[in-house]
Amino acid sequence: MLSRVSQSVRNVKVLPMIIGGEMVQSRTKEFIEVHNPATNEVIAAVPKCTQAEMQAAVDNSSEAFKSWKNTSIMTRQQIMIKYGNLIRDNVKELAAIITMEQGKTLADAEGDVGRGLQVVEHASAAPELLLGESMHGVSKDLDIVSHKYPIGVCAGISPFNFPAMCPLWMFPMGIVCGNTYIQKSSERVPLTTHRLVELAMEAGVPPGVINTIHGSHECVNFICDNPAIRAISFVGGDVAGKHIYTRASARGARVQSNMGAKNHCIVMPDANKEHTLNQLAGAAFGAAGQRCMALPVAVFVGEAREWIPELIARARDLKCNAGHEADADLGPMISPEAKQRAIDIVTKSIAQGAECIMDGRDVVVDKYPNGNFFGPTILTGVTTDMDCYKEEIFGPVFVTMGADTMDSAIDMINENPYGNGTAIFTNNGATARKFTNEIDVGQIGINVPIPVPLPMFSFTGTRGSFWGDQHFYGKQGFQFYTEFKTVTSLWRTDDVTHVGSDVSMPQIK
Ligand code: NAD
Repeated sequence: MLSRVSQSVRNVKVLPMIIGGEMVQSRTKEFIEVHNPATNEVIAAVPKCTQAEMQAAVDNSSEAFKSWKNTSIMTRQQIMIKYGNLIRDNVKELAAIITMEQGKTLADAEGDVGRGLQVVEHASAAPELLLGESMHGVSKDLDIVSHKYPIGVCAGISPFNFPAMCPLWMFPMGIVCGNTYIQKSSERVPLTTHRLVELAMEAGVPPGVINTIHGSHECVNFICDNPAIRAISFVGGDVAGKHIYTRASARGARVQSNMGAKNHCIVMPDANKEHTLNQLAGAAFGAAGQRCMALPVAVFVGEAREWIPELIARARDLKCNAGHEADADLGPMISPEAKQRAIDIVTKSIAQGAECIMDGRDVVVDKYPNGNFFGPTILTGVTTDMDCYKEEIFGPVFVTMGADTMDSAIDMINENPYGNGTAIFTNNGATARKFTNEIDVGQIGINVPIPVPLPMFSFTGTRGSFWGDQHFYGKQGFQFYTEFKTVTSLWRTDDVTHVGSDVSMPQIK
């Protein structure tokens, strides 16, 4: 998607970098406009930081690492506890920023902050989760311990769709482990990250431990190539994710790359119909379909196929409006380009033979005529060769399909290249168990449409949705941000120094 780049910005707030605890204005001549998706008004701009400025941020992070790595784990824990409380106290303000720059409803924006906050609270369990391993007496007088050490300067690159949650998957985990961090937010939603970093500093994160830089591809490539940056967390689309993984891991950097998705659910005829259809409408159309764990494809098995028309009534109840309006169920899509792409995919799929039983392409919100609104859209009769099936649309378009058996539905899901999330709706435990066992997808819901794990587990998308070894947060997140030093010690029993005075008469032998 195109970023709107301008040579100068007037009357618009230009977001500074945060380096060494200071707000630093870039000297660049190139800026990227930030828009309110409900109006398309320019609300701010981010600089395309120069190479020298980005290098200054890395140098500052490297310097800060020297002392931060030696702070006590209890100090880091206390800062995280304070940070979590500050986020909680400021949730309304953060949600308002998210709604303004991303478009989602205020309720959904609070959920975005809330899911990120859970990771911050989880990060404060660091004393437990950074425990190493030890074995006493592995051989005569020989002990081995392994300690988890921070790795150095780390960086996070985040997407537009969760302006709070995704950055909060990144820098709190990195810094609680003793690393210093450079966060590059999505150039489309930089304001939330900026505020989150301000709050982190207010909570006691020292200058230089968390720095921010801005830009798009050049900024990402700088992060990929900079030898001081030891680990990179990425969340976003496939093109960027594969590029970053390939480029940065080629120089030995550690990368965790969460990418795109096309999550399917299976609807069995024994499912609770009311519960299932309500859940499907929420998961397909909520956040205007712009969630990586949204549910854009449902495979109805057997006579469950007859329920498909009943989805229309539920989708019709959902109202498109600017996210801060009280009656909004769906906010706008992120940009005119994203909306046009979704329209094109739906139009092409209809030409390929899909039937559009609910069409949101022409929706207009009278009060916000310039917004990127796209109403709930339902396609039926879809086959796996159609564009609406093959592409991640990332809009409120629900693709419905039929299958004669659960086995054929499972085969279809396993043949799809993505493995982020999936769900089954059924009242039969044995059916659910077989599905769990045979499905090749990393996050599974049983009667749960959006099975995003809580942070004591990790976010375990697989196959085309994830490249890397260690997933975000949970025990794997702590592994990602640390490296082991294993210490083997020999303290010979024969060398024990005998202490204490001998008061008996010395003998001469
Ligand atoms: P995006 O890939 O366009 O942008 C993400 C980041 O990568 C941004 O910071 C951007 O500046 C940078 N970037 C974009 N294109 C690049 C390129 N060609 N080279 C270098 N850097 C580049 O993603 P987005 O549109 O902001 O977010 C939506 C995507 O993110 C969807 O595909 C969604 O499925 C995915 N996503 C995945 C997860 C997950 O956990 N799997 C979570 C949220 C979003």
